[in-house]
Amino acid sequence: MAATVGRRHIRSADGQPDPIPFTEPTLGPDEERALVDALRAGRLTGDGAACRSAEARLRVLTGARWALLTTSCTHALELALMALDLEPGSEVIVPSFTMTSTATAILRQGLRPVFVDIEDATFNVDLDHVEAAITPATRAVMPIHYAGQSCDMDRLLEMAHAREIKVVSDAAQGIGSYHRGRHLGTIADIGCFSFHTTKNIVCGEGGALVTDDEALARRAEIGREKGTNRAAFMQGLTDKYTWVGPGSSFVLSDLLASVLEVQLGRVDEITARRRAVWDHYYEATADLEARGLLRRPIPSPDVEHNAHAFPVLVDPARRTEVIGRLRDEGITATFHYVPLHSSPYMAQVLGDAVPDLPVTDRVASSLLRLPLFAHLTIDAANRVVDRLGVALDTADTQTNGPAPGEAQTA
Ligand SMILES: *Cc1c(COP(=O)(O)O)cnc(C)c1O
Repeated sequence: MAATVGRRHIRSADGQPDPIPFTEPTLGPDEERALVDALRAGRLTGDGAACRSAEARLRVLTGARWALLTTSCTHALELALMALDLEPGSEVIVPSFTMTSTATAILRQGLRPVFVDIEDATFNVDLDHVEAAITPATRAVMPIHYAGQSCDMDRLLEMAHAREIKVVSDAAQGIGSYHRGRHLGTIADIGCFSFHTTKNIVCGEGGALVTDDEALARRAEIGREKGTNRAAFMQGLTDKYTWVGPGSSFVLSDLLASVLEVQLGRVDEITARRRAVWDHYYEATADLEARGLLRRPIPSPDVEHNAHAFPVLVDPARRTEVIGRLRDEGITATFHYVPLHSSPYMAQVLGDAVPDLPVTDRVASSLLRLPLFAHLTIDAANRVVDRLGVALDTADTQTNGPAPGEAQTA
């Protein structure tokens, strides 16, 4: 039952430690009640009362003037580029170390992705590489915020706007994270969030687009409603509703929005609980780092982060075995993105133009994410670190791999 979900990872009746999943949403009776209320009241379609309240919460949280819920962050990204209405064939600079969603949004609008390398510290786009990739055909840049971290967004925005290049921030992992006091996703022309089950704040499947630009918001409202001005009609701004522009169907059902509204009200609580686990991992893995068995995350001093993930770097030659050993202990730790620039689909799209992105390749092959969610107990986190240490040590002697110390610079 949802209300007891936070108690499952302490111990089981037979004294055996419970499995530790990679992630799990933190849901309780308030989410359950909101969902049942919406269902009983027959509030099933989108852009209803729950959507409006969740959007209001999102505006207050982020400080953005406009917030539109969508069916996913992938759709919010598509909607963002649809609203920007860039000339087909224009170039959009994007990291290769991201989900397919970021680049899919580009391709769906007939634009060309230009993949650039990432910073070794934050795993986000390297701004020197962004600057070097700008051509007269560049119309937008799409940074992501890996693990709720960020590159220097002020520098990126200044660099882009000086050249009339738009910035769309893929803040799928960014809810509750602040860069120099500003919420991630708002240091951009448009920002997009995800409320997928694996993110910090969830409603199963869902997303949002935020912006301070009214014209972009109005175009996005139309794009979200199948190209119609239904939103303006519902707000009493027009006396009939009709087909006025390009669009698709990206409205979030009020059933899901009702859950999201409750979750958004818990963002401080959920972020604080995740931070407690993250900070504990950080302390507890210091010794493994000192012994050269892994590299801990390097948080940006400019970001007050939301502890979306705890990614460590390990020796790539040992990673698969370490994941398997943890799995044998009931602990799910995972690698992450397979770089997009070297994917089979991009081989078709880019042809000979596949770029060389050494930092992306190195990080992608050595990154390992530890289980992290708000109700993970400190006992469970200690078990993860303990078993990880054993797995890294044993893997070392068994595979006769590189000497300890190499992983630190890997
Ligand atoms: C999760 C994620 C997405 C996709 O979010 P959905 O809501 O599942 O569409 C896009 N970009 C990044 C960086 C993500 O982490």
